[in-house]
Amino acid sequence: MDRASLHPARSRWIELWNGKQALGWDHHGTPVFKFRWAPGGLATRRQLRAMRMCPGGQEPYALLVWRNGKRWAWLYRLDLAKPSRTASPAQLNALDKAMAARRTCGRCHQEQTYCIPTSDGRCIDCMDAASYPTAA
Ligand SMILES: [Zn+2]
Repeated sequence: MDRASLHPARSRWIELWNGKQALGWDHHGTPVFKFRWAPGGLATRRQLRAMRMCPGGQEPYALLVWRNGKRWAWLYRLDLAKPSRTASPAQLNALDKAMAARRTCGRCHQEQTYCIPTSDGRCIDCMDAASYPTAA
């Protein structure tokens, strides 16, 4: 019996994705999959990001290799992945609000297409209006 077949990682992934064939295991016992051969339920960091997810602190679960091992990427478990901190809908919404606040004039309360200088807080129209004597 070879070393890999004794490793706990083997039974671990067989349990989850029974039947799928790994290429082998690296020296840490991490299952290594060929491109397109990785079981469902695993994704690379790039794939996670495309889904607006991040690994969420989990250790890489398996290794994906392609181009005869010249390229490789860690695979993470989707069930442990978390919504990305930088792109969750709630935070995008909050970011939008923050940007809208930065574009809103403190005097006329119009939202402008540009960011209002924080030192002044007024839109350019208001600054212009204030720098000329009013007709009335
Ligand atoms: Zn204004």
